[in-house]
Amino acid sequence: MTAQMKQDGAADSAGRLSLLDFSQEEMAGFLAQLGEPRYRARQVWEWIYRRYAADFEEMTNLPQGLREGLAAKATIAPLEKVTELLSASGDTLKRLYRLPDGQTIESVLMLYDRRRTLCISSQAGCAMGCTFCATALGGLARNLTAGEIVAQVLDFARYLAKPEAEPQTDVERPTTVTNIVLMGMGEPMHNYENVWTALRRLTAADGFGLGARAITLSTVGLVPMIERMADEGLQIGLAVSLHAPNDELRSKLVPINRRYPVAMLLEAVQRYIEKTHRRVTFEYALMQGINDSPELAHELGEILAGLLCHVNLIPLNPVPDSPYQPTSAAETEAFAEILRQRGVSTTVRLRRGIEINAGCGQLRRAAA
Ligand code: SAH
Repeated sequence: MTAQMKQDGAADSAGRLSLLDFSQEEMAGFLAQLGEPRYRARQVWEWIYRRYAADFEEMTNLPQGLREGLAAKATIAPLEKVTELLSASGDTLKRLYRLPDGQTIESVLMLYDRRRTLCISSQAGCAMGCTFCATALGGLARNLTAGEIVAQVLDFARYLAKPEAEPQTDVERPTTVTNIVLMGMGEPMHNYENVWTALRRLTAADGFGLGARAITLSTVGLVPMIERMADEGLQIGLAVSLHAPNDELRSKLVPINRRYPVAMLLEAVQRYIEKTHRRVTFEYALMQGINDSPELAHELGEILAGLLCHVNLIPLNPVPDSPYQPTSAAETEAFAEILRQRGVSTTVRLRRGIEINAGCGQLRRAAA
């Protein structure tokens, strides 16, 4: 693909291309157009992915003229930070970014002991229309490019590399992103190509170099794409947003269920497990009086019996004007206990960043 063809959604107002949208081969082609030898691509690549450079000026082994030439034609930081919020407890940091075409997306960094887990977006908006989700309200604006997905990780990696970086903790601080979850805005499997280009870049030994097992992709359950992911040969974790054990209820909460009903989804997950031997996580956001009864817990336990899986119960994040309310802590625990008694491994997700609008599309809506 030529640099010209790459311009879709990636060139900024000054017409600069994002180098994060290039493979190393494409980077070499771009530099060749500037009359540069092949080894320059490796140098620039290393500055971006191994040393987290934010600016061409940092690339001190490049001639000054080339650094200036690159700065005029290209960028390695395509995301403009609009807002940043740190939770009072200091363990959640959220950033709202503006993309070159004005769209906005969110990323959230969470601290758990020694982990630095980054929740990233895969699309600006989302087309899936889940009725309890803030991102769904505005519909889909567009897919993120692979570079825009990777850019979120690099931005936080640069941030964490600074010695004074918050969030501060008493424990020894890993100075980079240790885990990534694709649980921000968008449906990653609805932007499959770009997401997987980004995932390969993030896991490549000469790219960002994060272990595939430290990354989790969360999907609403696009069955054909789950089949495809099983054949990728990368050990990325799979999480499936279930939220209900039967079609009648799930179709109300997750409209795509009408196309890929629960039985079909569970068959795809079963095949995924057989192929990859990996445990799959089911996400279940508990909503008061909607999907949180003991009967539904039993029904869920029944359909998941025998699957190599784990259930993550999510306390519902409040969405303005939404009819859904979170389930109480006591009822959440009771729901979890039923699943455990039925032999299904279950945890309740920690609530993070609620006061800084860190849940699912909240910050973008507040800023709109
Ligand atoms: N589209 C993907 C990933 C993005 S959402 C997916 O559906 O899995 C990440 C998780 O947050 C999903 O499980 C989603 O259902 C859940 N979620 C969405 N809105 C929520 C809310 N208001 N409260 C709690 N979880 C929510």
